[in-house]
Amino acid sequence: MAGKKRCAYVPPAPAPASDADADANTEVAQQPERCKSRAVAFAGDCSLCEASFCSQHRYPEHHDCPNREAYLKLGQERFANKLMGEQTVARKIVAV
Ligand SMILES: [Zn+2]
Ligand SMILES: [Zn+2]
Repeated sequence: MAGKKRCAYVPPAPAPASDADADANTEVAQQPERCKSRAVAFAGDCSLCEASFCSQHRYPEHHDCPNREAYLKLGQERFANKLMGEQTVARKIVAV
């Protein structure tokens, strides 16, 4: 039984404050707030980093996916091949 999944998106940590006024607020300010939305079943799963996200963050570019660059470099060709394969399969189904 999978429980309710939360969106795995964590915003990037804020830039470190300058030393001048860092002392007072450092501990409170450092914690980036996570997305509070519920992850979308299936469609919210990122195929690149295998985390689950809400509808807003499910695309790699929207959750700053750690695997996005590798995907852009290596994945496009493979993805294009995959799409072409799916089209071929679809055509066969239609033909039959
Ligand atoms: Zn989210
Ligand atoms: Zn991802």
